[in-house]
Amino acid sequence: MSPTDQQPDQLYLAREPIFPRRVSGRFRNLKWWLMGLMLGIYYITPWIRWDRGPTMPDQAVLLDLGNRRFFFFMVEIWPHEFYFVAGLLIMAGIGLFLFTSALGRVWCGYACPQTVWTDLFILVERWVEGDRNARIRLHRQNWDAEKIRKRAVKWTAWMLIAMATGGAWVFYFTDAPTLLVDLFTLQASPIAYLTILILTATTFAFGGFAREQICIYACPWPRIQAAMMDEDTLTIAYRDWRGEPRGKLHKGEIAEGQGDCIDCMACVNVCPMGIDIRNGQQLACITCGLCIDACNDTMDKIGRPRDLIGYLALTDETAERAGVPPKSVWKHVFRPRTILYTVLWGGVGIALVAALFLRSPIDVNVTPVRNPTYVTLSDGTIRNAYDVRLRNKQGSDAVFTLSVPFDAGLELELEGLSGPSVTVKANETLSQRVYLNAPRDSAAATAHRSDIRMWFEELGTTNRVHHDTVFNGRGE
Ligand code: SF4
Ligand code: SF4
Repeated sequence: MSPTDQQPDQLYLAREPIFPRRVSGRFRNLKWWLMGLMLGIYYITPWIRWDRGPTMPDQAVLLDLGNRRFFFFMVEIWPHEFYFVAGLLIMAGIGLFLFTSALGRVWCGYACPQTVWTDLFILVERWVEGDRNARIRLHRQNWDAEKIRKRAVKWTAWMLIAMATGGAWVFYFTDAPTLLVDLFTLQASPIAYLTILILTATTFAFGGFAREQICIYACPWPRIQAAMMDEDTLTIAYRDWRGEPRGKLHKGEIAEGQGDCIDCMACVNVCPMGIDIRNGQQLACITCGLCIDACNDTMDKIGRPRDLIGYLALTDETAERAGVPPKSVWKHVFRPRTILYTVLWGGVGIALVAALFLRSPIDVNVTPVRNPTYVTLSDGTIRNAYDVRLRNKQGSDAVFTLSVPFDAGLELELEGLSGPSVTVKANETLSQRVYLNAPRDSAAATAHRSDIRMWFEELGTTNRVHHDTVFNGRGE
């Protein structure tokens, strides 16, 4: 065949289906626990109740997008306090840096939603179709009654999980019990149905079919993580200096001159990414640790020491090859880089907690009206106008009294009201036009500009805040 007869190289290889084998061990158990915990948190959180007064849903965790507010148990974040959200995102970013620099792709292997839901879908697949060999057989066999039945059961179960996943997400944005009823009585908003539809479809497709393809081709994280790892980062590696040359057992024994790897393929068969860790570090490896469990099981059976595959840093590899004991796990975890990340992470966290406790329960904003800066009334009184925004962050109505202590005497007037007090409904923001009047010959009226302090006190409480602004006079 001449070179021109050859097929051009394919740009994209068709996906080879992966049928991970069941495995048990330390890391598998850890993954089960974390999966249960994370799925539990995700599905249950919107149903936790929390008293928020008569005007808000009694929901502990609520993203009130309409009013741009976020409720998390006793913490309420209002739109002007977006710095809290920014701070939490910064903490999440630093946390990811910290864990990646210490333990490699630990997020990918244990906590990423793609990993968690794929694990759940594989669990269902195993229940319905059996373990690896049975699934491979089913995959290869023709579409007979057995295959149709098993696939129908599996896809139905996947679809129910996907719908529960999409459904749970929308409950975070409004009162969950009310929305549940509305969804079933077709009273919910179209956006709720559309969101559920999109999340159901993506969960079904990503967890059921795309699986490792999302991690390898769609997610940018594997490509940027290398910048956060160094030679002290613990990651999954095969001790080839101990395992090679590999070879099958001869009469139940490892032959003379052979390494510990008996080429049983257990590490490859359990891998959800379908890779062979014995080929070295690979972009596809999510460091889930399942190959460690599989290989340890094999080592136990043949009576060889565990950890032919294990968590290992590059520095350990060099040391072990030279016959020197590796560093302890703690020395890998606690080093200048991770300590710096921890300090930064803790610093942002402490600053957020401090800001949370120091913020005032009354939130007020005063904007002087600049056009014009003052008006002269018929009796010569100089009047300045201010637009005041008062936020009542509490679950019940609140009455606020305004005052302006000023030596030269200023009269305060609230537009449309007879006294200096105004009621702000629970969880609402009120805009109120306020006037300050300076008698014709008063100091404030004749001065060009006077500094003033406007006070806001909540009736029946000790809550009291002020806002500094100016009063513009004639300037004689
Ligand atoms: S090679 Fe091992 S750690 Fe990496 S993805 Fe596969 S099973 Fe998980
Ligand atoms: S599980 Fe261990 S012994 Fe078996 S092939 Fe993998 S590395 Fe070799």
